Amino acid sequence: MASRICDSVLVTGSNRGIGLELVRQLVDSPLSPVQIFAGCRDPNGPRSQDLQELTKKHHDVITVVQLDTISPTSIAEASKLVEAKLKGKGLNLIINNAGVNIPGSLAETGMQEMVGVYTTNVVGPMLIAKDFHPLLCKAAAQFPHQTSMSCSRSAIINVSTLLSSITRCPENFSVSPMYPYRVSKAALNMLTCCLAEDFKKDGILVMSLHPGWVQTEMGGPEAPLTTLESISSMMKVITSLTEKDSGTLLDWEGKNIPW
Ligand code: NDP
Repeated sequence: MASRICDSVLVTGSNRGIGLELVRQLVDSPLSPVQIFAGCRDPNGPRSQDLQELTKKHHDVITVVQLDTISPTSIAEASKLVEAKLKGKGLNLIINNAGVNIPGSLAETGMQEMVGVYTTNVVGPMLIAKDFHPLLCKAAAQFPHQTSMSCSRSAIINVSTLLSSITRCPENFSVSPMYPYRVSKAALNMLTCCLAEDFKKDGILVMSLHPGWVQTEMGGPEAPLTTLESISSMMKVITSLTEKDSGTLLDWEGKNIPW
C-alpha cells in the first residue's frame, strides 16, 4: 500500500491562489496527510471564505491557523498552536507559500518597496524555519532507521520563481523588471541553501520550488497554467523529493533551474 504524502503539513498563505489549491489537492488526495495546517493572516476576513468552506467540509483534517508571516508574534503563536494540535508528534512538512510582488521598474522602486517585499518573501520564511525547527526535528527523529530525506519525513519547501534565477535574468528581465520581487526571491534561494546545509544534520530537506506562471491574483489571467495544473504537477515533485534535491531550485515539472 502506498504511504501518505506525509502525516502533517503547514501551508502559509493558504486562503487564495496557489496556497488554497495546495490545501485542496492535499486534502483531496487518497494519500492525504492526517493533519493540514492552513496558515492564513486573516482567517475571518472576506478573502478567507473559500478556505473556511473547504475547512468545514474537511474539519477532521484541516485546521486554519492565524499566521501573518511578517509578525514574529503571530509565527510564535502559530507554532505553539500547531505543536499542541500535533500532540507530541513532529511536523513533517512546511510549504512557505505566502508571498507578495510589486511589479516595480527601477524608477518605481524605493526603499519601502524593497524592504516591504523582502520582509514578506525572505524574513517570514526565515522566522518560520527558526520557530518550527524543533517540530521538524521531532518529525525527522520519528524515522530512527531512515537516513534518507523526504517530504514524508521532514522538509521545508520555499515557493520561489524562475524570476529569481540570476543565470536566467538576461532572457526575461525586459518583460518583467520587478526589482523588489526578483531580488527578494534570489535572497529566498540563498535562505534555502543556508537552511539545507544547516538542517542536513537533522535529516530535514530544504528546497525552492517554482510553480510556473499561474493564473492567480499575482500571476494574472494571461498566465498559461491554472492552479489545478500547476499544483497537480507540483504534488508529483513534492512526493518524489530526496536528499539530492535538498538545496536546489526546481520547477513544477521537477526540472532544475540554475541559480
Ligand atoms: P496570490 O497573490 O494569489 O496569493 C498570495 C497569498 O500569500 C495570499 O494567500 C496572501 O494572503 C498571502 N500572503 C501575503 N502576505 C502574507 C503575510 N504577510 N502573511 C500571510 N500570508 C500572506 O499569489 P500566488 O498564489 O500566485 O503566489 C503564491 C506563491 O507563489 C508566492 O510566493 C509567489 O511569489 C509564488 N509564485 C507565483 C507565481 C504565479 O505565477 N502566480 C509564479 C512564481 C511564483 P492575503 O489574502 O491575506 O493577502
